[in-house]
Amino acid sequence: MSSADRRDELVHREQLSPNSDERLLPIEMVVLHYTEMDNAEVALERMCDPQAKVSAHYLISEAGEVIRMVPEDKRAWHAGVSFWRGHKDVNSASIGIELDHPGHRGGYREFADAQFDALVPLLARIVKDHDIPRTNVVGHSDVAPARKIDPGELFPWDRLAEYGLCLPKPDKLEQGDPFDNDAAFFLALERWGYDITDGHKAIEAFQRRWRPEKIDGQVDGQIRAILYRLLLDRDAGFVR
Ligand SMILES: [Zn+2]
Repeated sequence: MSSADRRDELVHREQLSPNSDERLLPIEMVVLHYTEMDNAEVALERMCDPQAKVSAHYLISEAGEVIRMVPEDKRAWHAGVSFWRGHKDVNSASIGIELDHPGHRGGYREFADAQFDALVPLLARIVKDHDIPRTNVVGHSDVAPARKIDPGELFPWDRLAEYGLCLPKPDKLEQGDPFDNDAAFFLALERWGYDITDGHKAIEAFQRRWRPEKIDGQVDGQIRAILYRLLLDRDAGFVR
């Protein structure tokens, strides 16, 4: 089966949004979001409203329906003002997937299994088609830490990592403190990908992704050790 056949098989419905334009960069990232809306239909309506000026390539309902809103070769408007590994135009470099979910404001809760089960093959196909490294499968909060907290600490990154679709939490953490001072830590955090303009928020975003048990915006030994391990493994070429 060709990739194009597979693409259509994974999409249940198409409702094209007018909110897109031309890409200025090659695709090398995926950004995951939650909609923070009551249901998928309300979210779809908003993302197809020209006044709203927002969109994503895909929306996945809680029941697992995959809706295509923007073709992958177009630039969807999901990330807003954002930054990742030097890119300021994250929309141009990414594919955006919105997960139907009430968000933190709507009574934050676990993501539905049916939704996750629809996300896995879609994301697998996207990552394969565009050769996207696992280090670039990120959340909205990772690319806009000062403004966004989606998809949030309940998003099952660990389960996604089991499918090889994002990086797993590193094990074998270094003992002792790998960074001399906070400046060295922040330099490393920026090198990993984050906009560190708001340091506290950047640490929160890192914690939300890598140590969701405690999100306090404070640098501690465990956070330092996780970041150090991630960078070492990426720079050594063990992960990409
Ligand atoms: Zn978002």
